[in-house]
Amino acid sequence: MQKFRTVLERQLHDEHELHGMMDKETFLDCVSDNIVIISKALTSQFVIPEFRTFTDIIDKIFEKCVDNEEGKPAQYIPQLARRNPKHWGVSICTVDGQRYDLGETNIPFCLESVVKPLIYALTLNDLSPDVVHRFVGQEPSGRSFNELTLDYQNKPHNPMINAGAIVISSLLKKGLVIADRFDYAMDELKRLSGQEHVTFNNSVYLSERATADRNFALGYYMRENKCFPPEADLVETLEFYFQLCSIEVTAQSGAVIAATLANGGICPTTGDKVLDSEAVRNTLSLMHSCGMYDYSGHFAFKVGLPAKSGVAGGVLLVIPNLMGIFTWSPPLDQWGNSSRGVQFCEELVANFNFHNYDNLRHTSKKYDPRGRAVESKAQDVVNLLFSAFNGDVTAMRRYALLGMDMSLADYDGRTALHLAAAEGHESIVRFLLEKCNDVNPHQKDTYCATYKNHGTSQLTMMLSGSNMMMWQIFFWNI
Ligand code: GLN
Repeated sequence: MQKFRTVLERQLHDEHELHGMMDKETFLDCVSDNIVIISKALTSQFVIPEFRTFTDIIDKIFEKCVDNEEGKPAQYIPQLARRNPKHWGVSICTVDGQRYDLGETNIPFCLESVVKPLIYALTLNDLSPDVVHRFVGQEPSGRSFNELTLDYQNKPHNPMINAGAIVISSLLKKGLVIADRFDYAMDELKRLSGQEHVTFNNSVYLSERATADRNFALGYYMRENKCFPPEADLVETLEFYFQLCSIEVTAQSGAVIAATLANGGICPTTGDKVLDSEAVRNTLSLMHSCGMYDYSGHFAFKVGLPAKSGVAGGVLLVIPNLMGIFTWSPPLDQWGNSSRGVQFCEELVANFNFHNYDNLRHTSKKYDPRGRAVESKAQDVVNLLFSAFNGDVTAMRRYALLGMDMSLADYDGRTALHLAAAEGHESIVRFLLEKCNDVNPHQKDTYCATYKNHGTSQLTMMLSGSNMMMWQIFFWNI
């Protein structure tokens, strides 16, 4: 049975099945609700204009991770231990709503610790960061996620470990009765996911509650240290925390949640503004430094992106202003992160310049799928050639210092060197040949073979004898 993600998809399909073609009115009827996204597609205005090129690389990374059989599913409750270790799904949603799914992206699984940044963001949205951080710190703990430890101010180190998330659970809509607080969390998560799959797994909740000695110990220890707001009920808070961990998503709905975070709190598929951009920024900062258990420092170094993992095998990865990714595979590595999920993130950043500290201008070995990259390259060519044509040597020096590729050519294969020579700008020719290693004095333009005996430059006289390479200028068509 064919699946349709949108009404538009179904309409287009039905029309095509029925008539093979569609008339103008039907077409307009089909596209009118989605005119923004369709016009973006037709004019290559998406944040990733060459989506197919991008997803071809994603396919390869996905396949590479299939072979990773390291680790096993979490064993502390039967509901997680029973999960099939072969499950592997990756779902992507860009900030303008382009989607891509590979593998098992429709099977529900529990968020577990992935809920931590989400409840933190919702709490920040409601209270201010000042209020929230009276109860919880911002430092990586350097200890395991369920360690019985507090920071120097007797607060949990951060909201991404159990102690911090339990305190956040006590703050989330604390004025309401518990049933309404649960409804609130479900409704908001549903909004974050663009009204896609968000459900509750009662058996996971019951198992979590039945095996929660450590979390209860943490709760009593924190109550002794006055970590909770005065009105908080400890058992109710802990049960609320277990319920929140037992909320299920699919990789697809999780990817929309991740994309909402990437998009500053506005869901890209519905346009619903769920979170303040400041709440999102604070959440991403702490995911970046504390989101991957004891592997967080390593992950920040290697991947350089905000992420959060959970023991059910989910990894929520955010590429700010670009896309959200959710990977799901139950086997966990020694740190409790999904083995395939971590490998996927690392491979992703090895292929694309998504690391927070990748230099967007000259990380030449990596692919930049952002539209801006294509546009800015075109702009670079125009600026460079224009400056060479005008004899603006200062501008040429500035471009070289910025790391610009000084051998960039226009549609006719003409480089700055061709134009500077043609216009008789000796200082620029010298600068390009003597100081810019990437400039090839033998580079030919498109017409070179036809005109090489005709193109001469006034420069050849000026430069003759100074450098044998200069003779090459004789043969350029300019
Ligand atoms: N419910 C689990 C716990 O609190 C969540 C742990 C996790 O995903 N790391 O122990």
